[in-house]
Amino acid sequence: MPGVAILGSTGSIGRSTLRVLEELPDLHVRSLAANGDWKTMLEQVLRWKPAKAVLADPAAAKELASRAPAGVEIGSGAEAVRGLASEEGAEIVVAAITGAAGLPSTAAAVSAGKRVCLANKEAMVMAGPILTAGAVETGATILPIDSEHSAILQSMRSGNPDEVRRVILTASGGPFRDWSAEQLEQAAPEEALKHPTWNMGAKITIDSATLMNKALEIIEARWLFGLDVAKIEVVVHPQSIVHSMVEFQDASTVAQLGYPDMCIPIRYALTFPRRAPTAWGFLDLAKSHRLDFMPPDTGRFPALSLGFDAARRGGTAGAALNGANEAAVALFLEKKIRFTRIARLAGGALAEHPFVASPSLEDLYRTDGWAREWVRRNAENG
Ligand code: MG
Repeated sequence: MPGVAILGSTGSIGRSTLRVLEELPDLHVRSLAANGDWKTMLEQVLRWKPAKAVLADPAAAKELASRAPAGVEIGSGAEAVRGLASEEGAEIVVAAITGAAGLPSTAAAVSAGKRVCLANKEAMVMAGPILTAGAVETGATILPIDSEHSAILQSMRSGNPDEVRRVILTASGGPFRDWSAEQLEQAAPEEALKHPTWNMGAKITIDSATLMNKALEIIEARWLFGLDVAKIEVVVHPQSIVHSMVEFQDASTVAQLGYPDMCIPIRYALTFPRRAPTAWGFLDLAKSHRLDFMPPDTGRFPALSLGFDAARRGGTAGAALNGANEAAVALFLEKKIRFTRIARLAGGALAEHPFVASPSLEDLYRTDGWAREWVRRNAENG
């Protein structure tokens, strides 16, 4: 029975993954890792009885260790998290740590030749060429747990790669889709955290409000599917039912539809290329669903252009954009900068960073640190 390691088990994707695993008796939970939420981890350990559970935060790991049942090995620290990604008992690694912090374990899972179910899109944004080349070398399979990229993967399977004319990423438009430029200047974190269709973690929800999430997804799609950036397009689709589309050269457009529920792409990544039965979540279009589509407004949402720019440039551009964005989002959540400065700061760091065309992982970590520092420094002046 294949074992599953869930890195980021206490977060939104991790919890949904466990919900999906309730319906997949052919897989077992081998190990769980999270940052510091030892209470949720304890509940998960008691329910799933993994061989190992790791918390990156040593103090939290201690709390967990004093309460965990016998037979569950408790680990602590970032190194132990990375160890789970390459461990022999786990054939499947669900990479669900948010942000650049997930890159070391995601890279380790690829190096170990795992089936990598990738929710950690930032790893692909930062290190796409390294991860995809690494997967070819080790036999790792990278399967997206991102609704758009899961939709693209599913749609791609109805044609050949050289027959693809365009890939159309859908974007909900986020909570500020209809806000004016003036209103956006005043947008508060509480408002940005109210996503109209998806229920997700804080970082990705802010990214959805700035459309930086879509910018990162452009880069993610570019590397995951080896796409020419000119073939990637973004369309706003407020209902989040059509998760993305692939247009083929014969004028057929193939789409994947479903309710905005991450369990669907998670299930597909875990069972690919098979489709496992489920008892819930079936789309009922007879219930007066409207499907609207419109072009994105890159004037109000400049992050989108940054995504195309970084995807075109490759090299360290993705790491610079991502690191800067993560730092800027944190400052916005702390109410230290305005909403509209997130994209401006990210764009500034992207433009000014010392570009390296063929970076190593170390170069990418250095770029990430540089971009964060640049944002913190420049956030203070204006
Ligand atoms: Mg997505």
